[in-house]
Amino acid sequence: MTTEPIFLIGARGCGKTTVGQKLAQACQFDFLDTDQILQQREGRTIADIVAKEGWPAFRSRETQTLQSVTAPQSVIATGGGIILAPVNREFLRKNGIVIYLKAPVAVLAGRLEAFPEESQRPTLTGKPISEEVREILAQRDALYRETAHHIVDAACDPDDVVAQILAAINSPAAACIQANSATAG
Ligand code: ADP
Ligand code: MG
Repeated sequence: MTTEPIFLIGARGCGKTTVGQKLAQACQFDFLDTDQILQQREGRTIADIVAKEGWPAFRSRETQTLQSVTAPQSVIATGGGIILAPVNREFLRKNGIVIYLKAPVAVLAGRLEAFPEESQRPTLTGKPISEEVREILAQRDALYRETAHHIVDAACDPDDVVAQILAAINSPAAACIQANSATAG
């Protein structure tokens, strides 16, 4: 089993937090979420930071957070826009295994509509959610792809997404889930 950090990337709602927690449990890694840590450190929400200081100020804090939390044996969920900065793309590729959680627009929009309270980001464009998701993915899909070492189908059940990730990073690691569940009885 690898000890490298595992970075989860993808659009808002693709399941980075949900899948990341399960993956960390399966591997007995720490789970870290750059959005959550940044907000804890700042003592305010991302929406607040963006409203008061703008996106560039938020993005530079995001880069600083990413670099400061990266550690072995951790699963790191990132913000949807982390791949916009070349410095972040290079950092991710060099310092861990990068997994793109890819899901269709309709799936992402459906999740964001069902659970609006879980997306703490301000809307990026002020447009209807499915239109916004489509535009964001059109801008970012190529960047997610070029940054990722592995791409998984994030439209299926979270446990299946975890299994795909374990199978992708190294097949002996897929045994870690089975070993854990065997130990748990
Ligand atoms: P992200 O951290 O990538 O923005 P979240 O993990 O917060 O995404 O998930 C957004 C919403 O979608 C949550 O309400 C979560 O329960 C739900 N969700 C995430 N992954 C899945 C999945 N694979 N299947 C069904 N629902 C999911
Ligand atoms: Mg999240």
